[in-house]
Amino acid sequence: MQPITDIIPILTEPRTIVIVMHQKPDADAMGSSLGLFHVLTSIGHRATVISPTNWAEWLSWMPGAELVIDYELNTDHANNVLNTADWIFCLDFNVLHRTRKMAEPIEKAKGKRILIDHHQQPQKEVFSYGISDTTKSSTSEMIFDFIQSSSQGHRINQIVAECLYAGVMTDTGSFRFSSSTSSVHRMVAVLKDTGFDHTKVHENLFDNFLENRLRFIGHALLNRMEVFYEYNTALISIPWKDLVKYQIRTGDTEGLVNYPLSIQGIKFAALIIDRDEEIKCSFRSKGGFDVNLFARNYFEGGGHRNAAGGRSSQTLDQTTQRFRASLLENALQLQ
Ligand code: 5GP
Ligand code: MN
Repeated sequence: MQPITDIIPILTEPRTIVIVMHQKPDADAMGSSLGLFHVLTSIGHRATVISPTNWAEWLSWMPGAELVIDYELNTDHANNVLNTADWIFCLDFNVLHRTRKMAEPIEKAKGKRILIDHHQQPQKEVFSYGISDTTKSSTSEMIFDFIQSSSQGHRINQIVAECLYAGVMTDTGSFRFSSSTSSVHRMVAVLKDTGFDHTKVHENLFDNFLENRLRFIGHALLNRMEVFYEYNTALISIPWKDLVKYQIRTGDTEGLVNYPLSIQGIKFAALIIDRDEEIKCSFRSKGGFDVNLFARNYFEGGGHRNAAGGRSSQTLDQTTQRFRASLLENALQLQ
């Protein structure tokens, strides 16, 4: 993988570009992709954003979201676009399998793959150019740096600012995590100078749900949470029938894993959901416990030190049993 700076001298020659993000994109994946999309388009490139799967309704307010192709819904069209691309920007994921069914077509496409990402242990060999920086708060911050360092900062308007702000704000837990460095705040100052309305972004992301989602959270916390004080850990496990009963849609469970961390002393929280097609796991920690390592060791996943995800091909019961057993094996780090 050559450094991303190597493409800066050729960034203004018009090209056909695809921007792709990880499956079930969050606000950072979508915000960084759309932020980059608007800048590349204004330079004169032909850019298309593709998401490997559908995304949460609460991301649809983002400027340009209506142009994003859902790969699962428009596979043939997306493959055509992918095969004609000179460049394929890969944002907010470290390994190709995070794009699910797109992994193979991306690997076979002729265009140059360019990585911009902040997850640990990237699959560097599949990218021609790129930057991987785990110290960065978000891919949105990395896109901001990329735009600035290619002397395209003047293209950051209110639309771009809304997209990048949504990504950096959500990935830093509303500027709360240690990843919220002074550079993050300097970036936000530059974004604010465009005049964009940050209150609207917060409302669009956090005050835009249906009643059933809040009732579901109440149910999950009351009936589906176990606290293991001896391991400073809490687990929420959700059976498929709950998702059906509360009509839970993509994105509705985002953030649920953080609630147990508000209990005094709890340093490790897990959310295990039976999504029918697979068992999805989310892990969050405070302080030293490395959930990236934990997710890699036990649940075919990964991510960051304090936020990671994974999956299981067993049943929900078997998976939660395995989780409980893993606590014993990690007792030293958790106590
Ligand atoms: P979430 O729990 O929100 O799905 O994921 C938490 C963090 O871990 C996110 O940064 C996400 O991109 C990453 N992540 C989630 N699942 C996986 C996975 O299976 N592999 C890797 N490498 N990262 C993941
Ligand atoms: Mn991210």
